[in-house]
Amino acid sequence: MTGHDWWHNASLRTSAAVGEGWRLFQEIYLPTQYDGGALERIRRTRLVESLERAAHTEHFGPHLKDRAVTHENAEDVLASLPVLDKSILRHTPEAITTGLVKDWDELIVHTSGTTGEPVWITHDETKLTEATASNLRMLEAYGLQPGLRVIRATADLRHAPIEFETLPYFGGAKVLQINVSTLTARDADYVERLCADFKPDILWGQPLEVLLAALRGREGILRIPQLKAVLTHGDSLDANARETIFHAFGCPHYDLYGLQEFGRVGWECPQSPGTYHIDEERVAVSVGEDGQILLSSLTNTAMSLLNYRPGDGGELLREPCPCGRPHVRLTRIDGRKRALIADAEGQLVNIKPLRLILENEPLHRWQVRQEEAGRLEVLIVPLAPEHALRMTERLHAQLAGAMSLKELTVRPVELGELATASGKAPHFRLLATQHALSDAVASGASNW
Ligand SMILES: [Zn+2]
Repeated sequence: MTGHDWWHNASLRTSAAVGEGWRLFQEIYLPTQYDGGALERIRRTRLVESLERAAHTEHFGPHLKDRAVTHENAEDVLASLPVLDKSILRHTPEAITTGLVKDWDELIVHTSGTTGEPVWITHDETKLTEATASNLRMLEAYGLQPGLRVIRATADLRHAPIEFETLPYFGGAKVLQINVSTLTARDADYVERLCADFKPDILWGQPLEVLLAALRGREGILRIPQLKAVLTHGDSLDANARETIFHAFGCPHYDLYGLQEFGRVGWECPQSPGTYHIDEERVAVSVGEDGQILLSSLTNTAMSLLNYRPGDGGELLREPCPCGRPHVRLTRIDGRKRALIADAEGQLVNIKPLRLILENEPLHRWQVRQEEAGRLEVLIVPLAPEHALRMTERLHAQLAGAMSLKELTVRPVELGELATASGKAPHFRLLATQHALSDAVASGASNW
């Protein structure tokens, strides 16, 4: 776009994308809103272009060589391509890089991904512009307006008690971020006044963070004014949590489905709860015979993310939605469900600091277990068993520094010891799950 250094300034880049996002909203996302034919044309045009770009990549190129892709056969061609696994993103991202976007214009997102190991995704500016447009669509559907005010609940210990932020591509939202983990009774009056003056429209967070906000509300520590809506994202909701959130805040609750590799993929239809419309202008979705969701980006010109398997299960609904939108819907989404850790003071905190430390070590696998508040057991399977002792000591020091605990054990084990009865080896086996938190909110008594 330009050779000026400021092009790599995140604030400038995001702001520049908003104008283009508004244009996209008016020219594409609004006309396709209730017009299935218009949606189909955009979708197919973009799919053909995506497949043409993918022909430039090492991974998809051989499958697309000498194949003429048309509006008519594009779906079939996409379905015939191999599934894109996370391991490609992790180990050989250059195999799906198109080479069509100059380094200067690339936006690189570093994500820990759902399985924890780091992944780099290369985007072009459509990551911001298309997100702006699709967010405007979603906000309109939820009766919200640009300039909305968002209370963001966080349970991450690395976050300050209170932070202010703006989200230009999310309708230019103003954000008051509250750390619901570290909030105490001493802060209650101050935070109440802050929230009252802020005049929030919505509360936003991961299901666990929103449940924790509800629990703080029950305890009288967090008093927020009546909201227009609660938005959750990031983890699959269990039915119990959904009900608890609805009752705790007394307003509509909408859940979003997305992943860092793609941004938001689907948003819950206000007229058809539990079903998530896909913004088919930018993402193609299918569900394999194994019930696994496959996603394809139709807009990223820098990297060909086609038939990507995020590891979530779901069902696709193609029948018309009562709301009249022609966009297909996902339902029964079965993705990750994280939990929180109860530290030495009984505070419930996000697992992310621990995850980042563990991901930095050469481990074959690891697992964090909590069976009692304040006590944590970390089991590790080092790649090089001869370094197990030194690694154990180093990890113990780092983990103990990241979180206040009464007791911390780090122990090298054999891989088999990490498996649950179902044969999986999850990274976290914790107490403070959505279910447990929902029960705590519902019973009115804080168990934590
Ligand atoms: Zn709908």
